[in-house]
Amino acid sequence: MNAPFAAAALDQIRSELASGPRQLLIDGRFVPAASGETFDVVDPATGQVFASAASGGREDVDRAAQAARRAFDGWAATPPAQRARLLLRLADLIEAHGERIALTESLDNGMPFMMAKFAGVMGAADQLRYNAGWATKITGETVQPSAPGEWHAFTLREPVGVVGAIVPWNFPFVMSVAKIAPALAAGCTVVLKPAEQTPLTAVILGELLLEAGFPAGIVNIVTGYGETAGAAIVDHPGVDKVSFTGSTAVGKAIVRASTGNLKRVTLELGGKSPNIIFADADLSKAIPGAAMGIFGNAGQVCAAGSRLFVHEAVFDEVVEGIKERARTLKVGPGLAPGTEMGPLVSQEQLDRVLSYVESGAGEGATISVGGQRLSDQDAGYFIQPTVLTGTVSGMRVVEEEIFGPVLCAMKFGEGDDLDAVAAQANSTEYGLSSAIWTRDLSTALKLCRRLKAGTVRINGGAGVDPGLPLGGYKQSGWGRENGRAGVEAYTELKAVTVAL
Ligand code: ADP
Repeated sequence: MNAPFAAAALDQIRSELASGPRQLLIDGRFVPAASGETFDVVDPATGQVFASAASGGREDVDRAAQAARRAFDGWAATPPAQRARLLLRLADLIEAHGERIALTESLDNGMPFMMAKFAGVMGAADQLRYNAGWATKITGETVQPSAPGEWHAFTLREPVGVVGAIVPWNFPFVMSVAKIAPALAAGCTVVLKPAEQTPLTAVILGELLLEAGFPAGIVNIVTGYGETAGAAIVDHPGVDKVSFTGSTAVGKAIVRASTGNLKRVTLELGGKSPNIIFADADLSKAIPGAAMGIFGNAGQVCAAGSRLFVHEAVFDEVVEGIKERARTLKVGPGLAPGTEMGPLVSQEQLDRVLSYVESGAGEGATISVGGQRLSDQDAGYFIQPTVLTGTVSGMRVVEEEIFGPVLCAMKFGEGDDLDAVAAQANSTEYGLSSAIWTRDLSTALKLCRRLKAGTVRINGGAGVDPGLPLGGYKQSGWGRENGRAGVEAYTELKAVTVAL
C-alpha cells in the first residue's frame, strides 16, 4: 500500500523541525521563552527526539496574558460578522495546510495519518465553521419583570474575557481549535497551552492564525510543561476563565489553583465509559463498534468504551469477535501505510498502561488477548490491543481510567433488569460517555434515561460533532463544550432593567 501523502512533504517537515526549537506566539510574534529554555519532543513510534519547543514559564505566560488583555476590548468590539469571517478564513487555511498538519500530528502523537487528517484537520475546520456561525447568533433575551411599574428588561451575553485554554496530548490539534473557536466567536482572547508531549501542531495553528489576519494578541500560544506554564495560566490574575481538557486529577488541581480570582472553569476530564450490548443487538455493528471504541487512537480517548457489558447469551460471540479484531488490528507507526493503531504517546503512558494490565492480572482478571508491549517494535511505545475478562467491580482496571487499548469485558444476565444494568454501568466515579446496542427502542431509551453520562450513543456514535454538547456527569467534568452551551460557556450573562 502506498503512503497517502507525499514523501517530500514529510522530508520538508522533518528538516524544518530539525532546524531549531518551535517558539512561543506572544502578541503576534514568535519568540523564544524568556528563560531561553526548550524541551525535547519525542516521536512515540521510535522513542527518538525529533524536535524541540520553547519551554514557556511564568514570565512568558504573564506576557501572553497581558497581550491577550490588551487585545480584548478591540476583539470584543469587532463586529461579529468580521470575527466570523476570520474564523472561516482560518478554517480554509487549515484545510489548505492539511497535509502538513496531519503529518506533524501523526509524528508528534503517533496517531494514524488518516485519523490525524479526518479527526484532526477536518474536525478542526468543522469546529471553526460551526463556531463562526455562532459569532453572529449569540444573543440575550427580553424578560418581563414582575415588579410594579412598566419595564423594559433584557439580558446581554458578553465575552468572559481572557481565556486560558489547556489541552491534552491525545488529539492535540483539534482540541486546540475546539477551544479557541468558540472563545473567539464569543469575543474572548486566548492564551493556549498545548501538552508538553505534543506541542507541534499548536505552533502551526499560530502561524495560520497570523496568516488569516487575526490581530496580535488575540491568540497567544505558550508551549511548556503543565506544572510550570499550565500552572502559571491557572493562577494568573489576568486570566478570567480556564477551559481545560485532561485528567481528573489535574482538573481537581486546576479547580483548587483557580480560586485566587475565582476564574470561571470548564473541565472535560476522564472517563470509564460503559459499552452495553444486549442479546438482540446487531452484532455485525456492535462488535466492530465496541472494538474500535477502545482500540481507536490506542484507547487514548476520554470517551473510550473501556468497560464492556454484554448479555450472557451473546457474551462469548462478542468477546471472540473483539479478540479477533485485536489480533488482526494493524499496529504500527502512524505514518506507515495501513496502520490502524499507533503507539502510545510516551514511555510514561506505556508504563502506566502495562502496569494496569499487570494489576488486573494480579487481582484475578484473565488476559484474554494482548497485554504485552509489542516485541518487534522495541524502540517505540507500542502495545497490543488487550481484552481482559473475569473483571469485576472493585478491581482497579474496572474503576480507574487506563487511557490505553485495554478493554474490561463483563456480562449481565436474564435476571438483570435495566436498573441493575444501569447500576453496573454507573458504578464508577466517571460519567462522560456510554453506548447501548439493541434493536429494542424502548430498552435503549429507558436505559438512556438511567445512565449518568453526558453522551449516550445508541447503535453507533456520530463522533465528536461541533454541534453536540460534550462533557461529563460526576467527576468527568464541569460544563459542556460544543453546541450552544459550548459557546455560551465563554460568555457572562448580564441582566438589564429599564424603568419606563
Ligand atoms: P494526561 O494525564 O492525559 O497526560 P494531564 O491532565 O496531565 O493529561 O494534562 C493535560 C494538560 O494539562 C497538559 O497540557 C498538561 O501540560 C496540563 N497540566 C498538567 N498539570 C497541570 C497543572 N498543575 N496546571 C495546569 N495545567 C496542567
